[in-house]
Amino acid sequence: MVFDLFKSRRRARLRSSPTPPAWRRILEHNLDVFNRLSPEDQNELLDHTKIFLAEKHFEGAGGLALTDEIKVTIAAQACLLLLHRDTDYYPELTSIIVYPSGYTAVEERPIGGGVWSDAAEDRLGHTAQRLRALVLAWDAVRHGAAAPSDGENLVLHEFAHQLDFENQRTDGTPALERHGDYRSWARVMSAEFEALRDAAYAGTPTLLDTYGATDPAEFFAVITEAFFERPRAMRKLHPALFDQLQRFYQQDPTIYSAEPVAT
Ligand SMILES: [Zn+2]
Repeated sequence: MVFDLFKSRRRARLRSSPTPPAWRRILEHNLDVFNRLSPEDQNELLDHTKIFLAEKHFEGAGGLALTDEIKVTIAAQACLLLLHRDTDYYPELTSIIVYPSGYTAVEERPIGGGVWSDAAEDRLGHTAQRLRALVLAWDAVRHGAAAPSDGENLVLHEFAHQLDFENQRTDGTPALERHGDYRSWARVMSAEFEALRDAAYAGTPTLLDTYGATDPAEFFAVITEAFFERPRAMRKLHPALFDQLQRFYQQDPTIYSAEPVAT
């Protein structure tokens, strides 16, 4: 626990250090939602951003030269998921790798009969528990930060996966605050996941991206995007889901959302 004490002292020192004024200007310009948060939440987000940037390693790839603009725009979106919560800072994650735009990943995949083959896939972002890294395309990050209510946000999606990893399993269930919370979480999530699978199969239009029907881990990432980007529609169409996420994320994005008021 000596290490934890050292860590929490270092974080307290970082929190009380002054925020570079340029960071606030970057967020006011790039991150639409930042301008909608209360002054208290803006300050809390900047404090989290300071700690995040001090603790995580950033790397430019594909010829991208990293700037404060890139790092701060990514870090603040990641930290929106930490606001108001008594939480660690993505302990399963060491590095963030940023490409200028979409990139092609080559991965070994089983093709049956014990044979593996290289498969190429175009991606905007990716993370996996064993990697301890998270990969993002900067143009998609910037677009997501500027478009707060189109229902999609690459950074929120990938960092929701990181929250899922915190309890050591990639199962769509992050570490909930109280033991008693798991029962209602599981009940609501399995019903909503089944409903999304049915809608995906039937081709019914849905608020939630049907990519979330892939598996429970993708489901958690997709509902996180919708909770922050389309909270009013989610509260109306999926009230039990909204309630679970509001409890987990300790915030109500309907208060600051740019989403048109549901009629
Ligand atoms: Zn995903």
